Amino acid sequence: MTSSSRKILTVNLSFDQVMPALERALGNIGANISESDRTNGRIKAKIGTSVWSWGENIIIIVTRSQSGYSVDVESKSALSTTVADWGKNETNIQKLARELSLIEDKLLSTSRGNMPSKAFHNLECPNCGGQLELSPDGLSSKCQYCRRKLVA
Ligand SMILES: [Zn+2]
Repeated sequence: MTSSSRKILTVNLSFDQVMPALERALGNIGANISESDRTNGRIKAKIGTSVWSWGENIIIIVTRSQSGYSVDVESKSALSTTVADWGKNETNIQKLARELSLIEDKLLSTSRGNMPSKAFHNLECPNCGGQLELSPDGLSSKCQYCRRKLVA
């Protein structure tokens, strides 16, 4: 048994897509982001805290690789004296990897030909796949993740 788990994932996205995609994937698996440094590609998050558990810390470091970006993900039991994590760290990384690849697939199919206007109607950002927030007048929309603004 171990109290941490680590994996390197590869994504085929541009840098301004990778960070919002990761933030979104973390949100989808129920993690709370405590720090996100978009310039240097670093994210810290926490997941699974409850009355029964101190949860796990997730540390992500994004670096440039040949075919896109490498995402180094580490999940560590938050309480350093934890001897056995009962597979939680491994599960966190698997879930995150799955969410990230779903977001990546969506983004790649969007850039492969679906019009931005379609993404606008789906309330999804064509840049990062994040959820868009409609302005009160309904004439424009702004991405919650990468802050890109879209006009209908
Ligand atoms: Zn976006």
